Amino acid sequence: MGFNWLSSKAETRKSHISGKGTFAKKNIKKGEIVAVFGGHVFNFTTWDKLPEDVKYEDLQIGEDLIIGPKKKEEVGEGDYVNHSCEPNAGIRGQIFLVAMKGIKRDEEITFDYSMVLCGSEFKMRCRCGKKSCRKVITANDWKKQELQKRYRGYFSYFLQQKIDKTSRALP
Ligand SMILES: [Zn+2]
Repeated sequence: MGFNWLSSKAETRKSHISGKGTFAKKNIKKGEIVAVFGGHVFNFTTWDKLPEDVKYEDLQIGEDLIIGPKKKEEVGEGDYVNHSCEPNAGIRGQIFLVAMKGIKRDEEITFDYSMVLCGSEFKMRCRCGKKSCRKVITANDWKKQELQKRYRGYFSYFLQQKIDKTSRALP
């Protein structure tokens, strides 16, 4: 039993990207909420000790804050959202997943993990297969100016604040 809310227009299915993924059951409009992530809130010290099959279903929501399941039985619908380098969804606030564009029925719903990751040793090989695939995803990807521009408004709130603070004033 998971902690998340998942839109009735979405469901968990087997994914060709990795393991399980979240897919659209019906067409989803730009801006619609696809999922709301819930769970325990804890820091990286606690996260480090979590079982491997749970760790990567969690979501970073602050510099040293993570939300999500702590054990396998708590992983549920909505926890399986894969990364893509050309995503169709993004983060609103810290725990809302919203459609960045119209998503068609049977399309896999993805977001770019750079929208939430920072300050950890996280490293993942990407198999999204998109043209602009970065191949390796790290917790430093948010620093890339191109991504800061592309995902403006879709970064987790804490990360958007960090970006706004560090980036020079742009016209
Ligand atoms: Zn990729």
